[in-house]
Amino acid sequence: MSDKDGNKTLGVGGGSGRSGQVKQSFSHGRTKSVVVETKRKRVVVPKPGPSQGAASTDKPKSPMVAKHAGDPSKRPAGISEAEMERRLKALAAAKSREVEEAAARAADEKAREEERERRRAEIEAKEREEREREEALKAKAEEEERRAREAEAEKLAKQKEEPKKEQPRAKPAAAAGAAARPAAPDQAAIEAAAARAETKGVSAAGPRKTDRDRTDRAAAERDSRNKAARDDNRRSGKLSLSQALDGEGGRQRSLAAMKRKQDRARQKATGGNQRVEKQVRDVQLPETIVVSELANRMAERAADVVKTLMKMGMMVSMNQPIDADTAELVIEEFGHRAVRVSDSDVEQVIDTIEDKAEDLQPRPPVITIMGHVDHGKTSLLDAIRKANVVSGEAGGITQHIGAYQVTTESGSVLTFLDTPGHAAFTSMRARGAQVTDIVVLVVAADDAVMPQTVEAINHAKAAGVPMIVAINKVDKPAADVNKVRTDLLQHEVVVEKMSGDVQDVEVSAKTGKGLDELLEAIALQAEILELKSNPNRAAQGAVIEAQLDVGRGPVATVLVQNGTLHRGDIFVVGEQWGKVRALINDKGERVEEAGPSVPVEVLGLNGTPEAGDVLNVVETEAQAREIADYRNQQSKDKRAAAGAATTLEQLMAKAKADESVAELPVVVKADVQGSAEAIVQALEKIGNDEVRVRVLHYGVGAITESDIGLAEASGAPVIGFNVRANAPARNAANQKGVEIRYYSIIYDLVDDIKAAASGLLSAEVRENFIGYAQIREVFKVTGIGKVAGCLVTEGVARRSAGVRLLRDNVVVHEGTLKTLKRFKDEVKEVQSGQECGMAFENYDDIRVNDVIEIFEREEVERSL
Ligand code: GDP
Repeated sequence: MSDKDGNKTLGVGGGSGRSGQVKQSFSHGRTKSVVVETKRKRVVVPKPGPSQGAASTDKPKSPMVAKHAGDPSKRPAGISEAEMERRLKALAAAKSREVEEAAARAADEKAREEERERRRAEIEAKEREEREREEALKAKAEEEERRAREAEAEKLAKQKEEPKKEQPRAKPAAAAGAAARPAAPDQAAIEAAAARAETKGVSAAGPRKTDRDRTDRAAAERDSRNKAARDDNRRSGKLSLSQALDGEGGRQRSLAAMKRKQDRARQKATGGNQRVEKQVRDVQLPETIVVSELANRMAERAADVVKTLMKMGMMVSMNQPIDADTAELVIEEFGHRAVRVSDSDVEQVIDTIEDKAEDLQPRPPVITIMGHVDHGKTSLLDAIRKANVVSGEAGGITQHIGAYQVTTESGSVLTFLDTPGHAAFTSMRARGAQVTDIVVLVVAADDAVMPQTVEAINHAKAAGVPMIVAINKVDKPAADVNKVRTDLLQHEVVVEKMSGDVQDVEVSAKTGKGLDELLEAIALQAEILELKSNPNRAAQGAVIEAQLDVGRGPVATVLVQNGTLHRGDIFVVGEQWGKVRALINDKGERVEEAGPSVPVEVLGLNGTPEAGDVLNVVETEAQAREIADYRNQQSKDKRAAAGAATTLEQLMAKAKADESVAELPVVVKADVQGSAEAIVQALEKIGNDEVRVRVLHYGVGAITESDIGLAEASGAPVIGFNVRANAPARNAANQKGVEIRYYSIIYDLVDDIKAAASGLLSAEVRENFIGYAQIREVFKVTGIGKVAGCLVTEGVARRSAGVRLLRDNVVVHEGTLKTLKRFKDEVKEVQSGQECGMAFENYDDIRVNDVIEIFEREEVERSL
């Protein structure tokens, strides 16, 4: 008996009087760890000595009594034998009671141990099930909820039955919520059964109170086990829903989250510095900016900018413009500074640096030939170019503006603008494109100074451009060169022959006399002007002519004024922009580049610019687009401000309001810009105080429905110059009674309008369109040439009628039919809906999809 040691061991229960765990020794040397409780109410009696051995460590009660009882010699004094015996009896009785109790406790303990085991298994099963359930959680969510409710109900029932016992377990369960509860009915049943068995066992084993104490402890153990299990789970990296929702366990971080955290930490350590170093930029911000350009200016990735915009709820693509306010938010988001710039600043990207003197190189002069009509401008240009343009031209007027270069005998290169008089010159000047260096004033020696001669002089003077007088037609017998010189004096043009400083050369476009002298005079004048420019910079030029070409798209003839235009250059031209797809020189050759004073056709525009528009090469497409957009807006604003209508509605309103002077309103559509402008200028000169011609609208291209609408609203006719109305426009015109008049000679057009304006319209020979046919196929037939396989789409095709070939509603040829065939037979006419073969007299350039217009002439009362 190690009484002293035993003392200490037994002390476990002493303080609290509640419970402790001790090692129990049994008779056959077996030991067992058992939970013991003190029972305060128990009467303390001394234990009989030797038999105590087995239970010595067991006993909580009165160690002192036990100690002395085991050794009679150490019996306390003053106690009689009888008393001693009585005590010993009592002790023996107590002991036997004790043994009984110990047995009961052992049984109890065993039951509890079993119960613990069961619970552990139960928890493990639960955990296992949780894991499994987690996998199937989504699919079973609903069912689970139901089961969870059932389980909860069970639990509650159980708790009612044994409230204290269930409490610790119920707590996490409650926190976890219904869905988190292990809820399979079988599981719940097991639990309920277990709880019942437990209750029963415990009641049998001992008094209620003890039982409660024990369950408290057991619950505490369970808790700690649960916690350990959770910890295990954490280590395994798996997260069950109940764990995630378990308030005690706290929210588990996923591995990815941990990884992110680590990454952040690493970034902080390394990249953090980079962020500090990130350059804060001042971002120039116009009223609107294209997303990609914004990204560019911030030196950020466009995709990031798009992403940022998306976060702000704006779904835009890289190529879409956004307003300045939005852009400013984006700029701030990226940590840069927005610097608002006024709209016009967008134009600043255009290279405006002054050239240094040493960079400048001589350039050819650009010459415009001006003069009165029929004084021989075209003939002269033609003679200079040595190509006969005049005979092929309808009406003998220069209708297409272009330019070409010639080299003089002395080697000077001269660039001639091939323009219809001063109209283009003026309209170009009006747009700020001063392209002409020298004006050659053509005065016919047999006609002397005429009104347009004077106008030309005034224009040249206004532009501050030096003049050279070419006195033409000196071959004519009626030529009087001196009259020309003296006439010019009246207009302050003093030629050299009259001791002035204006060079004058007597020429004949017809015979070629004096042409070389004229060219040398021009070269000399150019030398005096010391024309220079820097070919080694971004190109700048002026549009001489522009049109929408069938097949090639918008085409502009550009005269390069400074720098060199290369294929692939990005440019802005007026309100349009583009990227040079091809450059074609005045000889029709494709070239890679065009330097100063070189005229080239430019392909690759996004729209048709206007004559006089300035072309500037810029660095990026975004810049080009931005400038073009800005200009577009500007011109719209300007027109609106000036009251000049842009929309059809505005035009109508204005036409209606303006009724003070008798007006002949007209709508003009022409094939090229130059023609349209020439017509408009000619028309605007018609009229007197009572009546005048008012051009409501003019433009390039086919006559459209909107033209008809405008004409109808103002009671105006539509004038088509080498263009036709498209089908919807034709129908609209028929319906609304709008007159469309087609012309291919400017003078006819002007004369007609003049007559109409002065009320002097007489009967005229007029064309009636009797039919239209579309070319479906083109055949080559020996002996005839090209034959068009056509379908008559409207009216009738008549062999005797006149025909025009239209390509994209623009007249490309006018003539007569050589043949009209239906199957193999030559026929007189073919009705609408039928197929036929047609061939033109002296014309072969027919293509699929071209339209043949069939017309007849008849005399009608003029109605313009
Ligand atoms: P534009 O209207 O100023 O372009 O004049 P054109 O070049 O069309 O010429 C008008 C007419 O004058 C044409 O019939 C030409 O043949 C004729 N013509 C032009 N130059 C000469 C010339 O030097 N001598 C003669 N005899 N006729 C000329």
